[in-house]
Amino acid sequence: MLLDKAIARLLPVVPKPVVRVFASRYIAGAALADAVRVVRELNAAGMKATIDVLGEEITNEPAARAIAHAYLDVFAAIEREQLDANVSIKPTALGLKLSYHLCKENVGAVLAQGRFVRIDMEDATTTDDTLRLYRELRADGRENVGVVLQAYLRRTLDDVRSLAGLKPNVRLCKGIYVESPSIAYRDPESVRTSFVQCLDALLAADAYVAAATHDEKLIRAALDRGVPEFQMLLGVREDRGRELVAAGHPLRVYVPYGEQWYGYSVRRLQENPAMAGTIAKATVSRMLRL
Ligand SMILES: Cc1cc2nc3c(=O)[nH]c(=O)nc-3n(C[C@H](O)[C@H](O)[C@H](O)COP(=O)(O)OP(=O)(O)OC[C@H]3O[C@@H](n4cnc5c(N)ncnc54)[C@H](O)[C@@H]3O)c2cc1C
Repeated sequence: MLLDKAIARLLPVVPKPVVRVFASRYIAGAALADAVRVVRELNAAGMKATIDVLGEEITNEPAARAIAHAYLDVFAAIEREQLDANVSIKPTALGLKLSYHLCKENVGAVLAQGRFVRIDMEDATTTDDTLRLYRELRADGRENVGVVLQAYLRRTLDDVRSLAGLKPNVRLCKGIYVESPSIAYRDPESVRTSFVQCLDALLAADAYVAAATHDEKLIRAALDRGVPEFQMLLGVREDRGRELVAAGHPLRVYVPYGEQWYGYSVRRLQENPAMAGTIAKATVSRMLRL
């Protein structure tokens, strides 16, 4: 187990083709048609979806505008195929690291079509700008927008309190980026405690909360509190997802697609240390051409 965790940290040096093979369960495919096919299957199984166009840390304006444009294609497909889906966007994919205003313009273009848009939360260097973006959009009268809060950040309970007056639509998750202990809880129990505290505070503020977790203890906590929606990632604990749906709980599955699959894949594989030993073997076999 310890060895597995060490290998998980080394994932960034694993050859991309190996990462790709192991990460394929987490990603719909490279093209919009792949996402449409996967969402159709999820919908047929009684699940909703949120579609993510992969791309992050975009380094030039045309690339950021291209991602915004790709989302308009996603909306057209949702409409055409009558899919039960919305979208999730990443501020850095829409240009946040280039300029806040470029990002806001791109997010505005995505929101303008009227369907619901979830703004994902990325690493802690983006938290202030992402919450500012959410607040400004709401102040501009946009109602079809939601945000994500990460329970591992020590600041999050305060963020919940400061957002409470907006009755925000929040996806609550643990958080996946590697953050310093000065700003983030590290041990699993503290992250869980924070998750439940944030959940309670959000429900008390009459917020709409989607519990985005595969952690059985937190799923139970969310069930006890009657959260209106569960969310899971494509390829993770699918049996548990089916059970929730069979028991009548709304479940939305996060469906990423696109050419820029690498960053997302590494995060998912790092979260699944059971996979790391297998990946290490595959890497060595490849290096030795076995
Ligand atoms: C819909 C959705 C959207 C998200 N959006 C964001 C976001 O915007 N920003 C952000 O920082 N994070 C986001 N996350 C990721 C989240 O922060 C966690 O990193 C992730 O969900 C794992 O935490 P967990 O609560 O499932 O608990 P964990 O303790 O990590 O997982 C619980 C159990 O689930 C299973 N499991 C979890 N991950 C995997 C995996 N990759 N492969 C195989 N099994 C696995 C294992 O059985 C594990 O024991 C999102 C998660 C979901 C479900």
